[in-house]
Amino acid sequence: MDDTRYKILLIEDDRFDQMAFERFLKDEKPLYECKIASSVSQAHNILACEDFDAIVSDYSLGDGTALNILDFTKDIPIIIVTGVGDEEVATQAWRRGAYDYITKDIKRNYLKAIPKTIKNAVEHKKMEEALERKKRNLEAIFDAAPGSMLLIDENMIVTRANDTIKQLVQKEYHHIINHKLGNVLGCINSTCNENACRNSQLCQECPLYKTLKSVLDSGKPVHDVEAHITLKINEKKITLWLRVSAKPVIMDGCKHVVVVIDDITEHKKMESEHRLAEEKYRLIFENSAVAITMADEQNKLISWNKFAEDLLGMDREDLFLRQVSSLYPPDAWGKIKACNVKQKGLQHHLIETTMIRKDGSIIDVDVSLSVFKNPEDERINSIAIIRDMTERRKAEEKLKETMEIKSQFISTVSHELRTPLAAIKEGIAIVLDEVVGRINEKQKKFLNIAKRNVDRLGNMINNILDFQKLEAENIGLHIQNNDIKQIALEVHETMVLYAEKNGIELMYEFAEDIPQAKFDRERIVQVLINLIGNAIKFSPKGGQACLNVRHRNEELVISVSDTGFGIPKYELPKIFERFYRAKHQREEVQGTGLGLSIVHKIVTRHGGRIEVESEVGRGSTFTVFLPLDPKTSQNLLPVTADHIL
Ligand code: ADP
Repeated sequence: MDDTRYKILLIEDDRFDQMAFERFLKDEKPLYECKIASSVSQAHNILACEDFDAIVSDYSLGDGTALNILDFTKDIPIIIVTGVGDEEVATQAWRRGAYDYITKDIKRNYLKAIPKTIKNAVEHKKMEEALERKKRNLEAIFDAAPGSMLLIDENMIVTRANDTIKQLVQKEYHHIINHKLGNVLGCINSTCNENACRNSQLCQECPLYKTLKSVLDSGKPVHDVEAHITLKINEKKITLWLRVSAKPVIMDGCKHVVVVIDDITEHKKMESEHRLAEEKYRLIFENSAVAITMADEQNKLISWNKFAEDLLGMDREDLFLRQVSSLYPPDAWGKIKACNVKQKGLQHHLIETTMIRKDGSIIDVDVSLSVFKNPEDERINSIAIIRDMTERRKAEEKLKETMEIKSQFISTVSHELRTPLAAIKEGIAIVLDEVVGRINEKQKKFLNIAKRNVDRLGNMINNILDFQKLEAENIGLHIQNNDIKQIALEVHETMVLYAEKNGIELMYEFAEDIPQAKFDRERIVQVLINLIGNAIKFSPKGGQACLNVRHRNEELVISVSDTGFGIPKYELPKIFERFYRAKHQREEVQGTGLGLSIVHKIVTRHGGRIEVESEVGRGSTFTVFLPLDPKTSQNLLPVTADHIL
C-alpha cells in the first residue's frame, strides 16, 4: 500500500479557491497534508519554522506576489497558480526558480493537473538532491585521490585540481584554478600567462604539453607517459620525473582532459641507482680475472664470464645449459655436489679440486662455491668462482724441490766445513797448550785471535744447521715433562761466568710454585742461552741482566731483561728475521743474525710466542710465553718459512 504523504503549503488569499483546493486534494492518492497561508508574510512565518515537500502559491497575493515567496524558499519546489498571469510572468517565475506555472483555467479544471505537478516537483527535487550528493562524493574522491589530478580545458587552463596537486606545486587553489597548466606547475619557460602552454617552439619541446595536446587533438587517452621536466617551485628550480596519464572528456559541451600526474622522481632515482649497481656488478663479473659461473637448481649453467670460457676452452654453445657435473672428473664432482645441499640461506665452500677442459686436459682449480636459495621462488642457485691453480701448484712443487735441494746443500756444506774446522781447532789448541813446543807471547796472541775466529765460525755453522733443520721441520721436538726452574738455574750457572767475563751482573728471579711443563728441554735451553747471550753481548760493561721465570694461567712466562743498548722502535719488527742484525749495531759485537730467528722458531713450534720491549740506551726485555702443554695450545701450528720470512 502506498502510504506516501506529501506535505503541502498552499498560499492563497481567496477563501473559495482555498476550499476548492482542499476539497480536491482530500480524495487524492497519495495523501496530501495541507497547510494554508493567506499572504506572503504569513507564508514567511510558517516557512521559518516548518518544512514542506512543495508549495502551491497563487501569483497575486494581498501583500506581494509568488515571486516574493521564491526569494526565501530556495530549496522547496514552488508551483505557481494564477488566473491573471501571462507568459511574461511565467518566464519570470521560471527564471527565479519556480518549478511550474499553472493557469487557473476553470473550464479545463486546472486543479486536476496539480497533484501530478506536485508529485513531479517532489521527485524532481529528490533526484536533484541525489545528483548533488553524487557530485559531492565524486568531488571527495577526486580530492582524495593519491595521484595529482587535474582537469584542463582546450586552452590548457586548469578548471579543477585535487589536494595532491596542491602539495606537488605548493600553491593554494586560487593560484591553480583558472590558471594555465604551465603557470600552475611553474614551467620555467612560462614566467607569465602569455608564455605558458602555447603552441610555441618551447612548448613543442615540453613532453607534458605535447602529451596533453595530443590527447586533446586526437581524443585518445594516453597512459603512463614519463616526462622529465624542470619546474620552478617556490622560486627553486627542480627537475622532476612525472608519470602522466590523460583521458579526454567533454564537459559543458567543451573538450577537457582529465590528467593524473605522479611524481616518480624518487622511483627513477632508485631505478637508476639500481641500474648503475647492476652495471657495476656486470662489469666486475665480465672483467674479473677469475672464472665465474652461475648454475640453476638443476645444476645447469645459466651464466658465466669470458674468463670461464677461456679457462675451460669452451664457447657459448658449449656452455649454455651444460650440466655442471660434466666439467669435473667424477670424484671431484662428488665433492662439489656434497656442498649443493638444500639448506636455508647462503652457504660458502672453498674446494681444492680439478676440472676438465674441452680438450680433455685436467686443470687444478680452487673453487669458491656459494649456494643460495632464492627467497621468492625457493629455487637454489649456485655461483662458482674458479681460480686456475695449475701454474701455482707447479710453482709450489718447484719451490719445495728447490728448498729441499737448498737444505741438502747447506747441510752437506756445513758438515763438510765442520770436519776441517774441528781439525784446525784441535791443531791451534795443541800449539797454544805448548804440547809441541814453547811459543812466545806474540805467537800466543795471534793464535788466540785465530782460535776465537775458529770458534765463531763453528758457532755460525752450528746456528746455520740448527736454523736449517728447524725451517725444514726436520727437528722433531722431544716433548716431555720438565722442571723449568731447574733448567733455568742450570743455564744461569753456565752463563754467569761468561757474563762476568764481559763485566755484566747476571741475576735471576723465579716465582714460587711453577708447575711442570711439557717442552723440548734441549731446545728451550737453546732459547735461554740465545736470549741471555744477547743480553750480555748487547750491554755495556757494568750492566745487569736478569732471567725471570713465572707462570700465568696455562703458560710459562720466561723473560730476559738487560740494561743494555736497546733497539730502536723501527727495528723491532725485523729482529726475528733470519740474518737480521740491527743497523745501529756496534761493530765489535759479533753475531750471525740467526739467534733470534732460531728462538722464534723454537717458541712457535712449541705453540708459544715471543714479545719484545726495548728502549734505546735503557735496555730490552724479551718475554717468551710457552704453553704448559703444547698439545692443548691453540697456537700450536706447523711453522712454515713464512712465519719467519
Ligand atoms: P745476533 O745476536 O747474532 O746478531 P740475533 O738474531 O740474536 O743475532 O739478534 C738479532 C739482532 O737483534 C742483533 O744483531 C741485535 O741488533 C738485536 N738484539 C738482539 N737482542 C738484543 C738485546 N738484548 N739488546 C739489544 N739488541 C739486541
